[in-house]
Amino acid sequence: MSNTTIFDKIISREIDADIVYEDDSALAFKDINPQAPVHLLIIPKKPIATINDIAEDDRELVGHLFVVARKIAQQHGFAKDGYRVVMNCNEDGGQSVYHIHLHLLAGQTLGWPPYANSAPKQVG
Ligand code: 5GP
Repeated sequence: MSNTTIFDKIISREIDADIVYEDDSALAFKDINPQAPVHLLIIPKKPIATINDIAEDDRELVGHLFVVARKIAQQHGFAKDGYRVVMNCNEDGGQSVYHIHLHLLAGQTLGWPPYANSAPKQVG
């Protein structure tokens, strides 16, 4: 399976995105289909397909995504009111782009639980 996703094309500027943050190892941009008044995606520039593919050596990089979330929340003024960061994994988690990303959602009181119209599975 090819590792190339739409997010690689956003990193290389082959396709446009509304980029709000960039550094050597991460990029953040507005989600094309926002689920809250603020809906940003924070991605590593290194392509890692899913949480299941995160290696021990990626620990610092993945932690950095949360540091970026915190910086954006402070810079955009919603850190105190609150926000949610979510990383979906594979089909049951709702992942559709196979390049790990934190969803950063803010600007509205968010709901819980996160599922709708699905029956629980036997796990474990
Ligand atoms: P996932 O479902 O994998 O957790 O999240 C993927 C997210 O990427 C979705 O919220 C979707 O709206 C967003 N997305 C998919 N394609 C594009 C795109 O081309 N540009 C941007 N900005 N967001 C995208």
